[in-house]
Amino acid sequence: MTAHANYLDGNAAAGELSRIFAIDVTSAEGKCAHCGTIKRFADAQIYMDAPGLVARCVACEHVLLRLVNIRQRTLLDVRGITYLSFDTSALSDSAKPADSA
Ligand SMILES: [Zn+2]
Repeated sequence: MTAHANYLDGNAAAGELSRIFAIDVTSAEGKCAHCGTIKRFADAQIYMDAPGLVARCVACEHVLLRLVNIRQRTLLDVRGITYLSFDTSALSDSAKPADSA
């Protein structure tokens, strides 16, 4: 099925993504902008051997997300994800969105 075998699962991106997002992105559900598959980000295929980190859809292998650190800047390209949906029920009250308290 896949021409690539050197990827990790989406949990491998947790460290890099936690530097940008206050909430754990790997637990979010996302929709692939190419094929429409909805999966947890942790189910994505993560390639760490590129200049940055590349997340690919487990269903169609299109790029969901790219993250590259260049000197003092981080470039995050998420055009391959239509949306991310987060379960905020386990967050502390101060971390929850204002309309869910
Ligand atoms: Zn896809």
